[in-house]
Amino acid sequence: MKNIPRIFIGNDAAAGMRIAATREMAHYLAHVMRTRDCIVFGGGHEFAGRLSDDGKYIDVGADTGRADPSGDITLYFAPIRRTDDLINMATQMGVARLVPVITDQTVAHHINWDRMRKIATEAAEQSNRCSVPDLAAPVKFSDLDLKGVAFADERAAHGAPTGVDAHGARAVIIGPEGGFSDDEFDALRRGGAVGISLGPTILRAELAAAVAISRMTQ
Ligand code: SAM
Repeated sequence: MKNIPRIFIGNDAAAGMRIAATREMAHYLAHVMRTRDCIVFGGGHEFAGRLSDDGKYIDVGADTGRADPSGDITLYFAPIRRTDDLINMATQMGVARLVPVITDQTVAHHINWDRMRKIATEAAEQSNRCSVPDLAAPVKFSDLDLKGVAFADERAAHGAPTGVDAHGARAVIIGPEGGFSDDEFDALRRGGAVGISLGPTILRAELAAAVAISRMTQ
């Protein structure tokens, strides 16, 4: 199955379907990859696919039976200037859900969330996943249930005695460029979140997200 193009066709993907091929899909298969055969996927399954001779449809064949290598981690993240990089890396690393969180020090970056969904889709196609992570609408930090959530605690890089064990947490939150506010650190503690150190240096938020996910999936 190496080097066969992979195309996300939606979460209701099923064997026997015939879906309309977008111009982008048809061009990519027929003219860039010079093939009609592909793998199509969605909803945790992948299938053999074939572009019709007129280039208008993709016929969905048998389920390949391959298990989805995606994980079950939820990434809460404050939108940052490099949100595209954060989403790209987190998707490649198998995150199941991406939830933008507006924190006290989040800067308004005018993020195009449709473009972010496209980036997640392309990253999923390239990283052999059988699903694309959900990208939720932004939520307020104050609306989060913090119990059992790990948070990347930058105070570790300023000498605070923060551990590295996420204690089995399945969700992690990363602060914005300016970090978490004192009120948020209080709320994290009161809400039962678990602080983790990502090392002695301050990482940019997009790298912090990747390191935290790696820590939680080892
Ligand atoms: N402006 C903050 C400061 O100087 O303390 C740093 C913010 S950092 C660019 C963005 C986010 O990445 C932080 O809120 C935190 O969640 C995470 N982060 C970065 N470095 C970290 C580290 N060494 N340990 C834990 N979290 C870290």
